[in-house]
Amino acid sequence: MKFDMALRPIRITLSLFAAMLLAAGCRTARPDAAQLPVKHFVRSEQLLVVSDVELRKDHALIQDLIQLRQDVAHELQLPLEGRDVVVYVFADKAKYQKYLDKTYPGLPPRRAYFVGTPKELAVYTFWGDNIQEDLRHEFTHGLLHAQLKDVPLWLDEGLAEYFEVPRSTPNAVNREYARKLGIAIANNWEPDLERLESLQDVIQMQRADYQEAWAWVHFLLHSSDDSHEVLLNHLQELRENPHPAPLSIALHDTLPEVNNRYLSHLSSLNSIQPANHQR
Ligand SMILES: [Zn+2]
Repeated sequence: MKFDMALRPIRITLSLFAAMLLAAGCRTARPDAAQLPVKHFVRSEQLLVVSDVELRKDHALIQDLIQLRQDVAHELQLPLEGRDVVVYVFADKAKYQKYLDKTYPGLPPRRAYFVGTPKELAVYTFWGDNIQEDLRHEFTHGLLHAQLKDVPLWLDEGLAEYFEVPRSTPNAVNREYARKLGIAIANNWEPDLERLESLQDVIQMQRADYQEAWAWVHFLLHSSDDSHEVLLNHLQELRENPHPAPLSIALHDTLPEVNNRYLSHLSSLNSIQPANHQR
């Protein structure tokens, strides 16, 4: 699949104040609530899918999300229990867009959204060609926000991009990202985790930032036991503390010359054999 940044699914985490406003708005705007999908429900533990197209529990899409929840918990050593993540699947793009325009006016057009509020962790999307990849990405946001007090933006997007790649892909490598990062490295690009950590608004995140965030997550999970431990420790801290010290501090303390290690890890990704199928 050709990657299109303009259609990137993104997360939105609303502040408590904004959430209260929205909740108040919902009480006075009943017709909006009625436009959410209502016809079919599938539940599996934390996952609740509400759709206007019939989706049975044994559908491959639902089974994929059930497995994804297990994989996220296992790979990040997070508990399986937690708040529900409600996935709303509209029958088509027009109904989805109409609901978003009325409920969250002003949002840039995207194929899918995660909206986390104290009231609900919700994913919105519509039935279409990219639904599996979009749902994997957004459901990962939902699972992270169900377990953690807060999630730094770069890490939230990096993990969502990481788990968006089906586990059947060798070494979970997003080949398009690996290829583009390889070109960037050849052009003397320098990674900068502190710069990524300083980004606070998803609107600030460019395509290259998604790539770099994905690659930091891949590096942390796969390059060494020490890097793996830095990430898992940071996630455990986020379960209790919404604003711990930036991960880069522990990373620099643990791994000397971390940028060089990161660059050599990325270079190695392009030598991994591609999968037989194209994403
Ligand atoms: Zn995202």
